[in-house]
Amino acid sequence: MNNHVTVLEIDSNALVHNLNYFKQKLKPNTKILAVVKAFGYGSDGIQVAKFLEDKVDYFAVAYANEGIALRKAEIKTPILVLHPQVPNLQSIIDFRLEPNLYNFKIFNAFLKLADEIPLMNYPIHIKFNTGLNRLGFWHTDIPKIITSLKETTHVKAASIFSHLAASEDLEEQDFTINQINNFAYIAQQFYKHLGYEPMLHILNTSGVVNFPQAQFDMVRVGIGLYGFGNDEKETSQLKNTHNLKSIISQIHLIEPGETVGYNRAFTAKRRGKTATIPIGHADGLSRRLGNKNGYVLINNKKAPIIGNVCMDMIMVNVSKIDCKEGDEVIIFNTQEMIEDIADVSETIPYETLTAISQRVKKMLT
Ligand SMILES: *Cc1c(COP(=O)(O)O)cnc(C)c1O
Repeated sequence: MNNHVTVLEIDSNALVHNLNYFKQKLKPNTKILAVVKAFGYGSDGIQVAKFLEDKVDYFAVAYANEGIALRKAEIKTPILVLHPQVPNLQSIIDFRLEPNLYNFKIFNAFLKLADEIPLMNYPIHIKFNTGLNRLGFWHTDIPKIITSLKETTHVKAASIFSHLAASEDLEEQDFTINQINNFAYIAQQFYKHLGYEPMLHILNTSGVVNFPQAQFDMVRVGIGLYGFGNDEKETSQLKNTHNLKSIISQIHLIEPGETVGYNRAFTAKRRGKTATIPIGHADGLSRRLGNKNGYVLINNKKAPIIGNVCMDMIMVNVSKIDCKEGDEVIIFNTQEMIEDIADVSETIPYETLTAISQRVKKMLT
């Protein structure tokens, strides 16, 4: 049972809708990798992955621990670990996770381990840097990688991939097309010299939207599954998956001159009514939403957050709202509300979603 009544409901119908939306943009045999890193973008990676297991071809997580959690929940789908570190390699193997190998340090460490055990044709993924300058080999590393791969039967390249730097930004279209062309050249080298053909993938959500011609064999969809495209038009085609709800713990009648919350940040000008809600900055609600910058919905009306956001609570002005203790409170249940919060917090929905903390109960509905 939920003893912290604040709950994030994850809408499974919306997840399917969003998945199908991207599927219809793709060729029928293009594989889909669902990105479930960071607890499924602030929801629940395990519940989301369990639900999507028979609907997608691959999952990706950022770190080994996230993949281990999925395996412990008995998810059998291949899982790409996007950002492994040398000390995680043994547990990656133990849990049948598939590492992204992005430089010679980790590539050689994995090959050495694969030799010692020994593994047979263990799937690895090789990432190339084509302009993001974050993780990945340089194209000049290709001959050395191919030589190593041809000399071993312990590992096998399941895919060659890269990541776009500005796929959402059409003003950067030339840069992106250059990345895609560089990637195609890299892929060609592998196809020519490796002796087998690993899968190829470069697109994230906004890549699918803007550059579907570069879908290759698989696409990696993250934020889109959770309801956000790269512009208003795309987002309006998607459904919101994250619904954050709570209840009113207490109502206070406030007299003029009384203050509310820490540092007495709100002073009442007239008689009014406040509601205290059990969600605070420790649950992932930014302090920037305080002092009327943010709002919640109570009985379909906007109730501004007054005073400072506390660690565990907020107080909202419900002077004009007919409500009582125990009533439902919507923190957000549309993409628009999430975007409002992101705007006020001077960030993007990615951060607003992933900020939802582990204290909040997550429920797939
Ligand atoms: C997070 C991530 C994705 C997903 O990106 P979205 O914009 O959320 O679709 C894809 N690929 C890599 C390498 C990532 O790190």
